[in-house]
Amino acid sequence: MAARLEPDAPPVVTKPRWQPKPEVEKVCPVCGKTFVTTYSSKKYCSKECRDREMSKRLSEKQKRARRERHE
Ligand SMILES: [Zn+2]
Repeated sequence: MAARLEPDAPPVVTKPRWQPKPEVEKVCPVCGKTFVTTYSSKKYCSKECRDREMSKRLSEKQKRARRERHE
């Protein structure tokens, strides 16, 4: 009799090994500091710099809106 293939044998799967995200070196536009991040969308070195940039943008927008209303 011919040897039969084992029907319950699990298929051999080579699991993809988990790879850490590549680190990206970036320059913070607020303080000019070089920092390393794994997030490619990250722009600022810290929360403080992000907050500073956000409040700066906000105040500029408010200033502009005020001027438009005035003229
Ligand atoms: Zn910074």
